[in-house]
Formats: sequence, structure tokens, C-alpha cells
Amino acid sequence: MSSTEDLDYPQILFQYNNGFLVSKIMFTACELGVFDLLLESEGPLSSDAIAERLGTSASGMERLLDACVGLKLLGVEMKSEGAFYRNTELSNLYLTKSSPKSQYHNLMYYSKTVYLCWHYLTDAVRDGKNQYERAFGVSSKDLFEALYRSEEEMIKFMYGLNAIWSICGRDVIGAFDLSPFTVIYDLGGCAGGLAQECISLYPNSTVTIYDLPKVVQVAKERFVPAEERRITFHEGDFFKDPIPEADLYILARILHDWADDKCMQLLAKIHKACKPGGGVLLVETLLNEDKTGPLETQLYSMNMLVQAEGKERTPAEYSKLLAAAGFREIQVKKTGKLYDAILGRK
Ligand code: SAM
Repeated sequence: MSSTEDLDYPQILFQYNNGFLVSKIMFTACELGVFDLLLESEGPLSSDAIAERLGTSASGMERLLDACVGLKLLGVEMKSEGAFYRNTELSNLYLTKSSPKSQYHNLMYYSKTVYLCWHYLTDAVRDGKNQYERAFGVSSKDLFEALYRSEEEMIKFMYGLNAIWSICGRDVIGAFDLSPFTVIYDLGGCAGGLAQECISLYPNSTVTIYDLPKVVQVAKERFVPAEERRITFHEGDFFKDPIPEADLYILARILHDWADDKCMQLLAKIHKACKPGGGVLLVETLLNEDKTGPLETQLYSMNMLVQAEGKERTPAEYSKLLAAAGFREIQVKKTGKLYDAILGRK
């Protein structure tokens, strides 16, 4: 903001002020099934028809649809009978439940869980820690006990986190040539979205999803097809239990959950288990070295404050952790998308 004109009408300020209203409109349209209905319908629908099919008030729905038009999540055609709404390409691709690139579950996790935690952002900054006690009345002593405070919450988390790999998975797994590594462990591999990308890109690889027992159970039951022989499972706690030998360990969005001492503990343990010549692949969103951006990563780092014990880091910070654990030949690859890749070798 440079000119006096900008200061007379601080548009950017209003935009920021309204940021959460925008999020909530998108979340609500998703939750009510607006985009799914319009995908299935033969043609554009009137507001009254949408309200009736989705069981909402006519007045509320009309305003929701018009706001979605303003956000370019819907298109509208004016006919003699009134306005008729249809999905845009963006909503068809990302906001409908059935699309292979659907972000529906991620949005629902934001709407139902992240949003509630962010209510306590000021407290999080004051306290310097996550806000599970205030937001959900659960102890935050064990981070994943708090995150998985019910089976339902754990499943929402798994669906929510998995969604992004249909958009960014191929870029991070293909950032380096991982074909020399055939025995791969995805530590904290969760629902297996990245493991699936990995076996599809590298035909000689097998990937073991190593995660907490209850996560592994759900991954097996709901996410990874039983006939997929190249994905196997290992139930364990990577801080307390042994980590088996492998050529490559993937740590995707793991280190950002933890403070430096826990990251060091985990990386040192991985280094010990790793075959000579093997490696570790970090998949994280990277801050600029001077921490001036990218904004998305700065926002996620705030989210780590409210929801976890870690933070987003710069390439130099990750490289320092890897080097201290004994990894060498550390290479950083920015993908141009949300998540980047760092490879360290033993
Ligand atoms: N790697 C996945 C991804 O990027 O979509 C999931 C990342 S999620 C932020 C962290 C994962 O680490 C969860 O699946 C969680 O269950 C797992 N995790 C947390 N603590 C763990 C522990 N002590 N041992 C094994 N897995 C753990």
C-alpha cells in the first residue's frame, strides 16, 4: 500500500476483515451439498429448487447462492422465470464429493475443527501453545490423543489430510528420482495418499505405512484397497517403538507437528535405522529463508501454533535438523505448489 488514495479506502483491510466470512460461505455450500446437487442435476437450477431439494429455507439459500456467485464458485443465468445457478469448473473439480480431486473433506475438517481452534488464536499467541483445552475441553499433553479425541474426529482428520495428495502428491513424490529406493517406509503415513502416489510412480517400490495402531486400522479398512499388495502396514509409535530398516523414509507433514528436540529425536532414530546409501524425504510447505512468505505457509505456521506443537520452517532450518542427525547431500526442491521436498542421504 503506497498511495494516499489506498489509505482513504483501505480495500485490503476490508478483504482481510471478511476473510473468514468467505471461508464460511464456501464451507456451508459444501456442507449443505450445493455443489454435489448441481453436479448431478441435468442443468442449472433455481434457488427455490435447490432449497427444496436440500431442505433449507428459500431466503437463506438464495443469499448463499448469490454469495457463491460473487466468489466465482457458482455461475448464474438470468431467465424470464428468474436466476438459475450452475457449478463453475473449479467447484466441479474440487468442491464436489465425488471428484477424484475433491477437497471436500479438507474443507469440512477446516470448518468443523480448525475453525473452532482458531477462535482461540489470541490465547494461543499469549500461551505459545495449542488450544485443545479451551476449544474442546481435552488435555493437550499428548498431541495425537488430543487430535484423535474421538474415533469420528480421527477419521475426519484422516480424510481431511489425505485430500491434498490428489493435487500435490505427484509433484512431491516426483521432485527427486526415488527409483533407487525400493523399500520405503512412510512414517506417519496416515491414510496412505502419498504411499499410493509413490507406488504408482515407482513400479519397483513397496511402501509400508507406519502409524499409530488405530490409524493403521482405519487406513486398512477405509482407504487402501486390500488387493494393493505393494502397500503394507506397521503399527507403532515412532518415538517409542523400533523403526525397521529401509532404503527410504518419507516424513510428510511430520516434522512440522513437533518442536526441534522431538524432530531431532526422530531424525536420529531414522538415521540409525536407515540402510547406508538410503535416505529420508521430508515433505513440507517451506517458508522463505527470511520468513517474509509465502503467506500460505505463514498461515499454516500459525495453525501449527493453535493445533500442534511445531511450526513451519525454512529450508535452512530443515537442513540443519537433517545434518545434525547425520544426513548429508541435502537437496531442496520447490515444486511451485503447496508442498515441497527435501532429500537427505545417509
Ligand atoms: N503424512 C501424512 C500426510 O502428510 O498426509 C499425515 C501427516 S499428519 C500431520 C501426522 C501423522 O503422524 C498422523 O497420521 C499421525 O497419526 C502420525 N503420528 C503422530 N504421532 C505418531 C507416532 N508417535 N508414531 C507414529 N505415527 C504418529
